[in-house]
Amino acid sequence: MTQPVVRFAPSPTGKLHVGNVRTALINWLFAKGQGGTFILRIDDTDLERSTAEYEQGIRDDLTWLGLTWDKTFKQSERFHQYDAAADKLRDMGLLYACYETADELDRQRKLQRARGKPPIYNRAALDLTDEDKAKLEAEGRKPHWRFKLSGERIEWVDLVRGEQAIETSSLSDPVLIRADGSYLYTLPSCLDDIEAGITHVVRGEDHVTNSGAQIEIFQALGGAAPAMAHTPLLVGADGSGLSKRLGSLGMGTLREKGVEPLAIVSLLGKLGTSDNVEIRASLDQLAEEFSFDKIGRSPARFDEEELMSLNAALTHEMPFGQAKDRLAALAPEAANETFWTLVRENCQTVEDAAKFVPVAFGEITPLIDDEDKDFIATAAKLLPTGDITADTWGTWTSALKAETGRKGRGLFMPLRKALTGRERGPDVGVMLQLMGRGRAVKRLS
Ligand code: GLU
Repeated sequence: MTQPVVRFAPSPTGKLHVGNVRTALINWLFAKGQGGTFILRIDDTDLERSTAEYEQGIRDDLTWLGLTWDKTFKQSERFHQYDAAADKLRDMGLLYACYETADELDRQRKLQRARGKPPIYNRAALDLTDEDKAKLEAEGRKPHWRFKLSGERIEWVDLVRGEQAIETSSLSDPVLIRADGSYLYTLPSCLDDIEAGITHVVRGEDHVTNSGAQIEIFQALGGAAPAMAHTPLLVGADGSGLSKRLGSLGMGTLREKGVEPLAIVSLLGKLGTSDNVEIRASLDQLAEEFSFDKIGRSPARFDEEELMSLNAALTHEMPFGQAKDRLAALAPEAANETFWTLVRENCQTVEDAAKFVPVAFGEITPLIDDEDKDFIATAAKLLPTGDITADTWGTWTSALKAETGRKGRGLFMPLRKALTGRERGPDVGVMLQLMGRGRAVKRLS
């Protein structure tokens, strides 16, 4: 197999959400697993809705995730090429001017439905003479341009969906150029795919129907259509379509929550595949394991809780060096290896460590139940003198046990609650060393 060239082609009219990140990721994993090329194409032909901020946001999010590109370009830089391609199609008689307004088309569809016919464009414009057109234009109408489909059956073997067939006679001739002269994404996309040497178009299955028309456009422009892979869409954990919440779940939100890029790509790279969903060591490992054959046909369920539990698994093992800067951002003292190694088991994200910062380095409100008041007073008296070391906790609790007869939970829980202000958390003996004698004495009294 020659090395694949793929593209991820977002429109900069919004932020990336988990659904389109998954498409980017699948493209990247496929390309990199085969030593291929990943191109980032910015589909900004809609000049009104596209913004530089969204474009930058897309680049930042992909970079944060590690999905770096080998090449990138913007469609807005290529209008000359699209104009030339449109001229070529006009010369071939495959791009024709239409003058119907949106209302007229709407009425036409209603009528067709009422007659039990499929609501596809009736091609009335093909019968217009030059005089008719001149008259319409004199009335102030501007043409929009449709691609003339062959009406034949288009077949391809989809890398995910297997054999596909689309009868183009069942489709409306697609509009390629709007009345205001702007391009819909279809023609630019096909031309770009040809000129960039795209070998595989990999995208969501919402584009399957478009593929029928696009394959004809590829052929008309003189290129063979690339191979195609249409992946099932992502749905919410409850199986309902990508919910509003999920659809708007941007990378910025996840990053602010402290979610690791590796947790996101480990989940999105395996969701809806026959492989287990587990944290993988790296994007490269995910790329090595990637195969279209592993992608199932049913929608992939995205569950934010699953993402958080993968993130927790990653956090529990995270080396100090990797967490250090983010700990320092919580509090300068928190950038402490003993502290991190102690608390990480109790954290879903690095930022979760914040709740233990006052326990180790600041002030807390001790929890002392009435029935434990005497016990805690005794504990304060028995706390070994001198610096608190690794042995202090053992010596201290043995002495307390001997003195009070308490053991197990009755012995340890009141100490934990008094010293840390919480019922659960990391090892109290190590925490005691971090907080030091001063804090311990104050909390016990
Ligand atoms: N800009 C298109 C989209 O975001 C690209 C579709 C494609 O990959 O061909 O839907």
